[in-house]
Amino acid sequence: MNAFTLQGKRALVTGANTGIGRAIAIGLAEAGAHVVAAGRSSCDETVATIEAAGGTGEALYMDLADGTHGVAALQEAGDIDILVNNAGIIRREDSVDFAEKDWDEVMDVNLKAVFMLSQAFAKSVFARSATGRIVNIASLLSFQGGIRVPSYTASKHGVVGLTKILTNEWAAKGINVNAVAPGYIATNNTKALREDPKRAAEILGRIPAGRWGDPADIAGAVTFLCMPASTYIHGAVLNVDGGWLAR
Ligand code: NDP
Repeated sequence: MNAFTLQGKRALVTGANTGIGRAIAIGLAEAGAHVVAAGRSSCDETVATIEAAGGTGEALYMDLADGTHGVAALQEAGDIDILVNNAGIIRREDSVDFAEKDWDEVMDVNLKAVFMLSQAFAKSVFARSATGRIVNIASLLSFQGGIRVPSYTASKHGVVGLTKILTNEWAAKGINVNAVAPGYIATNNTKALREDPKRAAEILGRIPAGRWGDPADIAGAVTFLCMPASTYIHGAVLNVDGGWLAR
């Protein structure tokens, strides 16, 4: 068996229409997986890119603001071997003024949906007596506090906690649960930061690698964590941040 291929595997990636999720979907397909590109917005373009490169994929509508809908959509996708919980949102406001609605929205998408999809995925894997991989997308703010992003920081700390508890419960049953923690990656999510010259210079000046991350940098780490080569990696959080946390 080739330890570095995903041939014959079916992977589902949430938030696969854009940014990091789109790059992950393309990376997994390049490694040989059939990719279900799940999104609230259309993932047709992601699938077209995968197919143009000789891979296979399909688009699936999935709105994670409603966990029940997310689970139903996952079940509709058939037997899945790899689940990548990538979709995420951020809301910025001083904690003293932070709205309950913004707290709930971020928690629902960034944390509750990660748990509900992982649970539905595990039930399906166990029912098939199969094995599976879950990769959760965490953040630098899984380890640091940040400012004016209370629900985001709490949700991303929670993602690492979930990665650990699900490892404790599922590692011996054949599911590897790991996380990848991106640093500053050039996507829509960070557009405002990159367009603020002062903030952009501060951030760049702190990154040992001397550049912003590219979504493909995250795809590489996620793809590795789905391969047979990483079978003994459980409960890990792989920082892909150009060295940010080393500083
Ligand atoms: P983007 O804003 O580019 O993409 C976010 C994705 O999440 C989009 O596909 C978006 O869909 C999807 N999404 C948001 N809300 C929902 C919902 N209710 N249901 C389904 N999908 C939804 O962000 P990134 O690509 O940068 O972020 C991807 C992940 O990486 C997130 O979890 C983020 O927290 C994390 N991350 C990103 C970093 C960065 O520097 N960029 C740093 C650290 C972590 P739609 O387009 O329809 O809104």
